[in-house]
Amino acid sequence: MIRMIYPGQTIGIIGGGQLGRMMALAAKEAGYKIAVLEPSIDSPCGQVADIRIVAPYDDEAALEELAEVSNVITYEFENIDYEGLKRLTEIAYVPQGAELVRITQNRVTEKEAIVNAGCPVAPYIVVNTYEKLVEQIDKIGYPSILKTARGGYDGKGQLKLNSIEDLPSAKSLIEHSECVVESFVPFKKEISVIVQRNGHGETYCLPVGENIHVHHILHETIVPARISNETLIAAEEAASKIADYLQLIGTLAVEMFVLEDGEIMINELAPRPHNSGHYSIEACNISQFGQHIRAVCGWPLRKPKLMQPSIMVNLLGQHVVPLTNSISKFPNWSVHLYGKTEAKVNRKMGHVTILTNNVEETLDEIEKSGIWSE
Ligand code: AMP
Repeated sequence: MIRMIYPGQTIGIIGGGQLGRMMALAAKEAGYKIAVLEPSIDSPCGQVADIRIVAPYDDEAALEELAEVSNVITYEFENIDYEGLKRLTEIAYVPQGAELVRITQNRVTEKEAIVNAGCPVAPYIVVNTYEKLVEQIDKIGYPSILKTARGGYDGKGQLKLNSIEDLPSAKSLIEHSECVVESFVPFKKEISVIVQRNGHGETYCLPVGENIHVHHILHETIVPARISNETLIAAEEAASKIADYLQLIGTLAVEMFVLEDGEIMINELAPRPHNSGHYSIEACNISQFGQHIRAVCGWPLRKPKLMQPSIMVNLLGQHVVPLTNSISKFPNWSVHLYGKTEAKVNRKMGHVTILTNNVEETLDEIEKSGIWSE
């Protein structure tokens, strides 16, 4: 049963990171109260929440407490405890359900879902022993990428296999976890589509973003993506198909490769707002966070519209001081910092969004600022 959650009621969020914080800020604009379950005491979302429950994500008493204080529960990242979330669906209103988390927590079930939805993925095999890898690698060939089925992000838990000589170095990854091996895709670009759907089946995609990674971490998102109209339409259609297949409620980020001929291939899914959608806070008539809140609260969705092309650049630990020293030089930059205390190297600390009528010029401005030179 789809329920309408009204302003003044409380939204519970599992996970206290920046995605939860930006969800909470969007919800607060509409007058909701926020409860957050997060093990660390001083979290980005905890700082803006009304109620903080400080405990591990699988702590039963804490989940019960969250259920008690919340009128609806959502989550801000997928590596939460599936069993805990499932139990929560029995004692609280969790419109997104637990199934989507189960499917996207594991690359094997995730790829199966993408294929079942009728969308293309790179050829792959599933391997759970080193012997099986050696026996079956020829089905995929080289170069290929070995990825742990669970727990990988930002390129962690991955190994590129260029030749038979690289196989022994895969031993330790396979010993720890089931893996997939997929063909290395000679992509021309990486894009992502954030698709959002409410319980009535209303579905909208945010404008497609073009993603530039540095050392496997998202560096920039350029919107609109610099791809052909056909590819754009194919990307949105694929994301909507997957959303429908999964009976999505909430947000799904669909990461894709664009090949030389403009065809797309789905890389992976994230069942939550996504780093590549942050631009929507300033650049669209509805942000990915505002739309997510509408979806889980049973509101009608807004049709997203890009007000102006934009570039989002991530601020990692090493970029915070140079950015802070440059704020006065760039009046048009929207600066977001997530309230994390320790600016560790490569830790996502914030982002900058720049609306622009000249993407190439703005890319140049970003580069010349020197803030992202490390
Ligand atoms: P993932 O954790 O699957 O998102 O992978 C992180 C990054 O590794 C992607 O954004 C790509 O840049 C790269 N990558 C992942 N899978 C492949 C592939 N099959 N072929 C080429 N590059 C890949």
